[in-house]
Amino acid sequence: MSAIDKIYIDGAFVTPHGKEHAPLFNPATEEQIGVVQLGDARDVDAAVAAAKRAFPAMSRTSKAERIAMLERLSDAVAARTDDLIATMIQEYGAPALFTGFAVPHAASVFREMAETLESYSFSRTIGRAEVEMRPSGVAAAITPWNSNYGFICAKLATAIAAGTSIVIKPSEMSAFQTQLLLECLHEADLPRGVLNIVNGTGAVAGAALSAHPDIAKISFTGSTVTGRAIFGAAAQGIKRVTLELGGKSPTIILDDADLATAIPQALMTGLLNSGQACIDGTRILAPESRLDEILDGLKTAAEALKVGPATDPANEIGPMVSQKQWERVQTYIRLGQEEGATLLAGGEGRPDHLDRGWFVRPTVFANVTNQMRIAREEIFGPVLCVIPYRDEEEAIAIANDTDYGLAAYVQSSDRERAKRVAARIDAGRVTINSAPHEPFAPFGGFKQSGIGREFGTYGLDAFLEPRAIIA
Ligand code: NAD
Repeated sequence: MSAIDKIYIDGAFVTPHGKEHAPLFNPATEEQIGVVQLGDARDVDAAVAAAKRAFPAMSRTSKAERIAMLERLSDAVAARTDDLIATMIQEYGAPALFTGFAVPHAASVFREMAETLESYSFSRTIGRAEVEMRPSGVAAAITPWNSNYGFICAKLATAIAAGTSIVIKPSEMSAFQTQLLLECLHEADLPRGVLNIVNGTGAVAGAALSAHPDIAKISFTGSTVTGRAIFGAAAQGIKRVTLELGGKSPTIILDDADLATAIPQALMTGLLNSGQACIDGTRILAPESRLDEILDGLKTAAEALKVGPATDPANEIGPMVSQKQWERVQTYIRLGQEEGATLLAGGEGRPDHLDRGWFVRPTVFANVTNQMRIAREEIFGPVLCVIPYRDEEEAIAIANDTDYGLAAYVQSSDRERAKRVAARIDAGRVTINSAPHEPFAPFGGFKQSGIGREFGTYGLDAFLEPRAIIA
């Protein structure tokens, strides 16, 4: 069994001061595959000190130098694509459908940020004022386990484009993936101290980082509960924060949708990343006039989904990341039945053909009202709710009746109608008929889905501070 016993500070792999360890698992087999040594507050202090030393020189680098760093990082990550996929499968269990996007994305975010930087204007004239966009100061990033490479790379890319050094605390459950990614990032030969990564728990390393007086900016992706704690800690030092939090996103199937494509698309966006994606469209809003057809189609399609280890690329749904997450999802499947929803597909327990692994039966509930907890709370597993609506107005009202506002999906054969509906949804990103990802568009949420935006110029703005000089 291998041990991850190094963290990355000041351009080097070093042994953490922290002495605690956490087990690492293969979620498809439930076997322990390793152990990670966890950094503590002293390690966070050392990482922040290294980032602080690196900041002045980094903040003075030219656009061309930053673009060169971003290109080197992209190449270094792309060079290990196959290894990165294999490790993501082993430690996280993501199916090929997801690794096929997530791993190339981790390399391409650097290039996309380089492109954003190319045309970004750091100096602007506003009346008599010369406005300069300055890096906010040393940045921190705290990331979750559900797309470890992508979150680390996106936040690092933005920090570099802004001319900032960064300390990253990834999820302690992703230590093998972090270690391999670090080996790639190390190859890019960044100036010492620009990138620092500390493995550790949220309660120890995460809390120390988010309260650290030398951190000016925090970019967090994770649950709304943790986002609240980080926001509170950041408030003490009036730190800048970007929070990318949870979701309970609606998929509105309009009554003119072509169900032959809308149903598989609704299922796909609902169950992306085995249901462990913040943007999953987990509330399917179905017109009463076509409810029976939609339920029939969803049942057939959900029952045909292939669930199993991602080592077989034909499998479409992988395991939950941990036993705790598996149990949490089971609790919600029980709760849905207790609340009076009808099981259309799936249910409690493992799929019959699997005798181990944290696999969940892809579950679709019918007869759901938007007031049920299964319709209001983020489950983070392959569990979908179908909520009927009478007319377009009611569909929009239900879609917006949520504490969240991260993503939304609209299915219609009339694009203009779909755009009119989309314009009334309170969500950071509304996708019509499964249009492809747009990497330069802002990403983030309304309401309790977060604060601020990532990607493109919006993401870069969030790491910068405008200074106006008026003469
Ligand atoms: P989580 O909030 O439990 O943990 C995220 C990170 O925060 C981890 O690194 C964890 O160690 C750290 N952390 C935990 N407690 C902390 C504390 N008190 N102080 C500082 N750091 C702390 O989330 P998770 O279970 O790893 O990930 C799943 C959640 O992430 C879901 O709610 C999902 O919706 C959300 N998510 C959001 C987005 C988005 O872009 N909006 C993307 C992916 C996941």
